[in-house]
Amino acid sequence: MIKFLNLHKVNSKYSEELKKVAKEVIDSGWYVKGKHVEKFEDNLKEYVGSKYAVGVANGLDALRLIFKAYIELGYMKKGDEVIVPANTYIASILAITDNGLVPVLVEPNIKTYNLDISKIEQSISTKTKAILIVHLYGRVFWSEELVNIAKKYSLKIVEDNAQAIGAKFNNTNTGNLGDAAGFSFYPGKNLGALGDGGAVTTNDTALSTAVKAIANYGSEEKYINKYQGLNSRLDEMQAAFLNVKLPFLDEENEMRRKIAELYVKSIENPSIILPELPSNSREHVWHLFVVRTKNRDKLQEYLLKEKIETLIHYPVPPHKQEAYKEMGNLKLPITEKIHDEVLSLPLSPIQTEDDMEIIINALNNY
Ligand SMILES: *Cc1c(COP(=O)(O)O)cnc(C)c1O
Repeated sequence: MIKFLNLHKVNSKYSEELKKVAKEVIDSGWYVKGKHVEKFEDNLKEYVGSKYAVGVANGLDALRLIFKAYIELGYMKKGDEVIVPANTYIASILAITDNGLVPVLVEPNIKTYNLDISKIEQSISTKTKAILIVHLYGRVFWSEELVNIAKKYSLKIVEDNAQAIGAKFNNTNTGNLGDAAGFSFYPGKNLGALGDGGAVTTNDTALSTAVKAIANYGSEEKYINKYQGLNSRLDEMQAAFLNVKLPFLDEENEMRRKIAELYVKSIENPSIILPELPSNSREHVWHLFVVRTKNRDKLQEYLLKEKIETLIHYPVPPHKQEAYKEMGNLKLPITEKIHDEVLSLPLSPIQTEDDMEIIINALNNY
C-alpha cells in the first residue's frame, strides 16, 4: 500500500537529531517560554523575512490571535466583516467567527483554487475590515490588484499560510506579503512538528506585541494582565524539533515541486483534471496535489484497489457544515463543485520513484 503520507518516514530522516534535542529539552528542566522557542522565532523571522515571529500553540490559534489583537488594538470590532475564500479549510472561518467577526465567503477561481480576485470588490461593505487570503494547497495568492483593493478600502490583508510555508511571490515569502500571517506546524504540514505548533509573523510592532501578550494570558509583564488573553504558546520541545527541520524545508519543497511536475507531465487521462503549474515554480510548494474528476468516489475506490491511498481536501465546504447552519443557504456553485470533485494524490518529499510510477500508471489506466 502506498500511504497518503508516511510521517514516520518523513521524520526518520531527522531522527538522530530530533532525539538529541529532545534529550536536551528533557534534561534542561525548562519546557515553556525558553531558549528553543526564542531561537525558533529568530529562525522563522529570518526565513520569512518579517520583522517579527511569535510562536503559538497551533495554526488555528495563530489566526485567532491575529484577529483578537486587531480587535484589541481598535482596528476592528465585533460584527465587522472579513472576506475569506469559501473553499478553505474550516480553521480559517473558525478564526473569524471565534472573534465575533462575520465571514463573507467568496468563490475561488476554478483553475487555481485560490480566491477569484474579480469577486472580491463586490463583496466589500462598509463593515469590511480585512481579507483573509489562503494560499490553498501551497499556491501563493497575491497580486497588485489585491493590494490595490486593500488600499482603496483600508483593509488589512491577513495570510492563512498554514499550507504554503516557503512559497514566494517574486522575492517575497508568503507570511511576509500581507499585514500579518498565521502558520501551522501540524505534523502533516510542509514544516511539521511532532505535535501541534503554530506562529504569527508580521512587520507590525504593535500587532506582534499584542499577539505575544494575548497568547500568554494577556500579559506582557508577569502577573500584570493587559488583555483578557488565552494560553496559546509553542512549547520548547516542539520549537526544538522545528529548529532541526527548518533548515531542510527548502530542499523538501523542491522535492515536492519535482514530484508535482512529474505528475503533471506524466498523467494523461482526459477524465482527470490536473492542477495548473504556476508560471513561476516558486509560487507553489505543493502541500497537496489535488486533481478533479466527475466521479471522484469511483476514482478513489479504484486507486485504493490499486493499493494507493488518497484523501479528499475537503469533502464538505464550511458553509455546508452543521457548525455553520446559518450559512447553509448560500449559493456557492464553484466551491460546491470543487468539493464534489477533488481528490488529493500522495505527494511527500520521501516518495520514491517506484511509488510515482505505480501511481502514474494506475491513473493512466483508469
Ligand atoms: C492546517 C490548517 C490550519 C490550522 O492549523 P492547525 O495547526 O491544525 O490548527 C488553518 N488553515 C489551513 C488552510 C490549514 O490547512
